[in-house]
Amino acid sequence: MNLDLRHKVAIITGASRGIGRAIAEQLSREGMRLVLAARSRELLEEVAASCSTEVQAFPADLRMEPSPRQLIDFAVQRFGAIDLLVNNAGATKRGDFLQLTEEDWQDGFALKFFSTVRCSRAAWPHLVRSRGTIVNIVGIGGRTGSAEFAIGGSVNAAILNLTKVLADRGMKEGVRVNAINPGYIVTDRLNARLDHFAEEHQTTREEAAWKLTQGYGIPRFGEPAEIAAAVAFLASPMASYCQGAILDVDGGQTRTL
Ligand code: NAD
Repeated sequence: MNLDLRHKVAIITGASRGIGRAIAEQLSREGMRLVLAARSRELLEEVAASCSTEVQAFPADLRMEPSPRQLIDFAVQRFGAIDLLVNNAGATKRGDFLQLTEEDWQDGFALKFFSTVRCSRAAWPHLVRSRGTIVNIVGIGGRTGSAEFAIGGSVNAAILNLTKVLADRGMKEGVRVNAINPGYIVTDRLNARLDHFAEEHQTTREEAAWKLTQGYGIPRFGEPAEIAAAVAFLASPMASYCQGAILDVDGGQTRTL
C-alpha cells in the first residue's frame, strides 16, 4: 500500500532501539528521509545502516534545552523541512509511590514530557509550513492508573492531554496531532522486567511472560513493528481526518472508554 510518504522528512526521538528503531525502519521502508535522536551515536549509526533512505543521526540527551531545539534546527538545516515529528523517547522509573524520589519524578518528566513539549514547540512553525503532523508515543498507563506506575502514568496522562491541546491548535493551522498508546511491547525494557520477575519468582523468562500476559488478560505481548505500522498510518494522508486521536495498540488490554 502506498502511504504517500516518499521523500518526506521525519524526526524520531528515542530511535536507537526498541519502538523508536522499529518506527525508523518502517518509515524508511515507506521512503521517508529521517533524523534520528538518542544519546548514543554508535547505536543511531547502527539503525541508520539498517535503513534504505537518507538518515542523519543526532546524538543528544533530550532531557534538557537546548538539545530539543538543536535537534529541530539540525533537521531543517539538513533537509529544509519537517513533515513528521515522532515524540517517542521516554524512560520512567516504576516503583512504589513512597519509595520514588524527587529526582525520579524530575527525570521522568524531564525526558518524556518536556522533550515532547520542547520538540513540538520548536517544530511547530515548520510543521505549519509543511502541513505536517506529530505522533506522540505515549502508553496505556496514561488512561489506567496502577500503583507501581505512578510516574509513567502521570507523564503519559499529561502527554495525552497535550496531544488534545496541540490537535485543537493544529485544526486552525493545518497540523495533525495524534497519539498512540502502546500496551506491553517486547523491547529491552520489557525483557528486563521479565528477567526481574523471573528472578523474583524463581522461574524462566518464558514462564514469566506467560504469567504476566495471563495477569493482564491479553493473549500475547506486542511487537515494536506493530506500533511502527500504526505510526506510518497516522503519519500518512490516509489518516487525514484523524486529529487528536488516541489509538490504543495494546492487544485489547484497555477495556475502559
Ligand atoms: P527503550 O528503553 O527500548 O528505548 C527508549 C529510547 O529513548 C532509546 O532510543 C533511548 O536511547 C532513548 N533515550 C533514553 N533516554 C534518553 C535521553 N535522555 N535523551 C535522548 N534519548 C533517550 O524504550 P521502548 O520500550 O522502545 O519505549 C519507547 C517509548 O514507548 C517510550 O516513550 C515508552 O514509555 C513508550 N512505551 C513503551 C512500552 C513498552 O512496552 N515497551 C509501553 C508503553 C509505552
